[in-house]
Amino acid sequence: MGDRGIFVWRLLALGGLVVTLVATHWPRLRLSSEAPSDKVLHAVTYGVLTLLVWRTTWFARWWHLVAAMVVFASIDEWTQSLRPFLRHTSWNDWIADLVGIAVCTFLLACRVSARGESGELRRALQRAAERRLFDRPFTWLAMATSAVLGAFAGGAITMTLARLLLEDTKPFQTLFLGAIFFAAAGVDWTLRAGLRAMTKQITEAHACLHCGHSIGAPGAAGQCTACGAPWLRAQWVAPPELWSRDRQRLRRFLLLHAVRAAAVAFVAIGTIGVIAWAALMLWDVWFGERLAFAADMRDLFAYAYALAWIALTIRLVRSAVARVQACEGQECLACGYTLHGVHAVDGVGRCTECGTEFVAHVRIPHPTASPSTA
Ligand SMILES: [Zn+2]
Ligand SMILES: [Zn+2]
Repeated sequence: MGDRGIFVWRLLALGGLVVTLVATHWPRLRLSSEAPSDKVLHAVTYGVLTLLVWRTTWFARWWHLVAAMVVFASIDEWTQSLRPFLRHTSWNDWIADLVGIAVCTFLLACRVSARGESGELRRALQRAAERRLFDRPFTWLAMATSAVLGAFAGGAITMTLARLLLEDTKPFQTLFLGAIFFAAAGVDWTLRAGLRAMTKQITEAHACLHCGHSIGAPGAAGQCTACGAPWLRAQWVAPPELWSRDRQRLRRFLLLHAVRAAAVAFVAIGTIGVIAWAALMLWDVWFGERLAFAADMRDLFAYAYALAWIALTIRLVRSAVARVQACEGQECLACGYTLHGVHAVDGVGRCTECGTEFVAHVRIPHPTASPSTA
């Protein structure tokens, strides 16, 4: 379980790198004046490449990934100035590449993982669900379909809105950005639905988190008969949906945190913007150099800012949810009932109010460590 998915990601990443090199070195490539700005294309390309390369697991640390992408972008820009290609190297193109890498890295950094006492178990289950998901050819088909549908619908909606509400001077750029944004949102939505389905499969079948082998009627803990990976009864408790028995409470909670998070993110991202702008002004004053960016670069920075603001807002809301979820075992996540004194067997208890299963305080060492056969 897991190798096929990684293989596809690696194939996609290599394909992406090769296509990028060919496109940037194609002699005398000229974009029509109606096409999306060259800078936006650069940033989107490098953003997608960073995401693909991150998925390959070639780099264990995020800054290795960033360093590798910056080196690749630099080589890509530099070699364009070589004679046979008749292209040119521009600082702005390179900066646009870096913006793409930075935004993608920020989006990845905005993911929130499970915390608390049951956090390790929850993360192991999520990783297993992810591997199972990407191992299925159907996942790739579903991702491609939702990307295409999202791109068509998103492009049309964005262009129509821009035409109605704004004086849109670059309709094709708007179309392109809308298509990319909604394609990404569609893929994200599909993956979330897929992960929920895989989690359900694993928890219902008592599948080994390492190899997927089904472990019949488990006791408290044991070892997989197929691969030897240790397992815990508690790892197959389905993660309770937050306040699924109290939708009113969930709605109030999300609304409050969404408004607060949007404001905090706006101030945080805005402050960084003001500081960067002031630094550029001071640079101009002290060194007398004209650093003013052209309109297409300023547009690109504005898009990057908007995306960072949305991502940070979502992250802050998800963190608030994760903080509540970290209370699993002390409070029922489905109904909010306090679980003090509720009896648990093999690290698994059942809420006396609504009957939802929960992971109690489990303290068994490394339930999901890789077995020796891995
Ligand atoms: Zn196994
Ligand atoms: Zn309950």
